[in-house]
Amino acid sequence: MTIVDELKKCPYCAESIKREAVVCRFCRINLKTGVSIAKPEKSEPIKAKSGVMDGVRIGFGIFIVLPILLIIVVMVVFASPPSIGKSASEVSPPMTTQAMNQ
Ligand SMILES: [Zn+2]
Repeated sequence: MTIVDELKKCPYCAESIKREAVVCRFCRINLKTGVSIAKPEKSEPIKAKSGVMDGVRIGFGIFIVLPILLIIVVMVVFASPPSIGKSASEVSPPMTTQAMNQ
């Protein structure tokens, strides 16, 4: 009863809306002015922009991560096998490789 009293029909979309409602929540038309409220949903361009930004970020990350990985791999490859014969007389071969890289 009270619920029915509090509701009224939207003259534009015939949905039950609250009597005090100024804007219909279904069709988003201002019941006083009859003007439809523009939807503030411009998510598509923002999504596209963010997607592009993500792509740029991923590409940038790859360009940063790949060389670092390469350097790490090269350092591991050069450091793990003790260079036989070449630096046998030296005390610490890893130190020399680091010094050479720097
Ligand atoms: Zn409506």
